[in-house]
Amino acid sequence: MSKSVFLPAYTIGADAYAKVPEICSKFGKTVVFIGGKTALEKAAGLVKEAIKGSGLEVLDTIWYGGEATYENVEELKKNPVIQKADMVFGFGGGKALDTCKMLTNDLGKPLFNFPTIASTCASVTSVCVVYYPTHEMKELCWRYAPAEHSFINSQVIADAPVKYLWAGIGDTLAKGYEPEFSARGKELDHSNQMGVTLSVLCQEPLVKYGTKGLEDCKKHVVSSDLEEVILTIIVTTGVVSYYVINDYNSCIAHAIFYGFTTIPEIDETHLHGEIVSYGVLVSLMVDNRKDEINKLLPFYKSIDLPVTYKAFDATPEQIETKVLPKAASVNDIKVAAFPVDINVLRKGINDYEAYVASVKL
Ligand SMILES: [Zn+2]
Repeated sequence: MSKSVFLPAYTIGADAYAKVPEICSKFGKTVVFIGGKTALEKAAGLVKEAIKGSGLEVLDTIWYGGEATYENVEELKKNPVIQKADMVFGFGGGKALDTCKMLTNDLGKPLFNFPTIASTCASVTSVCVVYYPTHEMKELCWRYAPAEHSFINSQVIADAPVKYLWAGIGDTLAKGYEPEFSARGKELDHSNQMGVTLSVLCQEPLVKYGTKGLEDCKKHVVSSDLEEVILTIIVTTGVVSYYVINDYNSCIAHAIFYGFTTIPEIDETHLHGEIVSYGVLVSLMVDNRKDEINKLLPFYKSIDLPVTYKAFDATPEQIETKVLPKAASVNDIKVAAFPVDINVLRKGINDYEAYVASVKL
């Protein structure tokens, strides 16, 4: 069976929007802006400024509807301005861009993405996370390819709340370990070998540039360190996810995350990537990789990522009755280097917590 590969196309820089006329004019003349409210507020004006005098014409600016649902996609499809536009410019983090990906796939229109935060790879991937209108996750679906191009304005991202970049680092670290752990011992085809080999680039640059990059983001300063971090979170993660099968995309770190979502106080007050980053440490203990734990701990400390579940105010009882049963039940751990069950996870958490309590940070 044949397989087509569409790799992300993107521009990064504080002046990334200056490239919009040159790249987008090849696809037509009329544009509709669709996005999240904050994202449109932060970036739409800058894009309008960048396309002044280029011949590109903005027909309208439209809110995406607040959730990545099939219902919102259907609503948008009925909009005559969207039907008329030659292309769509999508503004947002994850959900608005996923909505634009589904919409333009159905309408057969070109899509250009303008990510305004760096917390996921949504702007450069073809996968869309679909939700129910009640905000629960429904399923995944795919655009035929990623957006035609993404314009990653590093100044816009430097001006966004730093917590998104911080949590993005936590989630991306998992991608630095989970694919290799899941795929270990298996015969890999070209695509999976590419993904697994590249996955190490989801952690090394973060450890190297993350502390300074985050500091610069706090000061709203664009630096090469910050851009390395942004590229790792958005592009490297996107490429790895794209190349590996779903079974290799997620493992113990995400299982631990799902475990903690059973405690509403934790789920509501901590970001996805923050909880996942704790799961990374547990997964490394399960895999007996203290060398990697020792490498990550000073980095975690330097940027305040959690190094113990006490950071979430979780109790040993909650770990036993809520976190572990849920974590052991998810599909994420079904494909791994060796069988992972509730006993393996329990030992991982306990051994890790005892270890981190014994080392001087
Ligand atoms: Zn994640």
